[in-house]
Amino acid sequence: MHELEVYSALCAGYPFAAVIVALLLLFITVPYGRHNAHGPPSWGPQIGSRLGWLIMEVPASLVPLLLFFLPALGGRREAVTWLFMLLWQLHYGNRAFIFPFRRRGGVATMPLLIALMGLTFNLLNTYLNWRYLTLFAPPYGREWLGDPRFLFGVLVFLVGFAINQHADWVLIHLRKPGETGYKIPHGGLYRFISCPNYFGEILEWSGFALCTWSLPGLGFALWTAANLIPRALAHHRDYRARFPNYPAERRAVLPFLL
Ligand code: NDP
Repeated sequence: MHELEVYSALCAGYPFAAVIVALLLLFITVPYGRHNAHGPPSWGPQIGSRLGWLIMEVPASLVPLLLFFLPALGGRREAVTWLFMLLWQLHYGNRAFIFPFRRRGGVATMPLLIALMGLTFNLLNTYLNWRYLTLFAPPYGREWLGDPRFLFGVLVFLVGFAINQHADWVLIHLRKPGETGYKIPHGGLYRFISCPNYFGEILEWSGFALCTWSLPGLGFALWTAANLIPRALAHHRDYRARFPNYPAERRAVLPFLL
């Protein structure tokens, strides 16, 4: 079977699979972070949380670089795809090589299974997005740089990135070095929602879908929402259960809505 046939089949199923995952995750809370701390560890053997993050995220930064730069893979590089790569690495350079070393205290382990599931997702997602951007997409051409979909998509991505970074920064600094446990975060979008880091991430990949105007980009945005909206609802329930004085007007993940 030709690679393009396999690719097309995977790509067509990708957005639909996100909807199924979203429905499942409304009933199953994946046990890492605060949801790995209640009761005995579940989902099999545990590994260090930092190692888990590295296993999941490092390939998401490196695989696109291989697809982009290795001539043997037959990809092409255009001015526009350099910019897509810049956005991608802005996010994944941080998530893979900086974020795992900035986390403080808290839950020290995660199930190996979750790290492997994250790795599998990231390999599939980077393959679908970057094989498209470097090979299967029609050439974007320099005129795409002035297209409203490109310009608005990049803006949405950058706003989402800023929100995600600020929200992660607030969480990381809630704990003094060596402290564990949870506190109520304040400042920025925490005024309106419990999980602005997830909201920012959803905006980022929605912006990426828009500026690349691609089916795999749309699939990635849907998977991000499918993963993070149910998780934000679980975090929100956890905050309310933990803190009787938790701000009542705060929503979970979408300001004023959800
Ligand atoms: P969380 O908000 O659950 O935790 C982030 C960090 O902050 C952890 O170190 C956590 O500690 C700590 N923390 C969280 N809340 C508090 C609190 N109230 N008081 C003190 N410390 C706190 O985020 P995730 O770990 O789920 O995700 C991290 C990043 O990765 C996010 O930016 C997210 O958007 C991104 N991500 C993206 C996904 C995608 O599908 N694209 C999937 C998952 C994450 P502890 O670990 O001890 O709870």
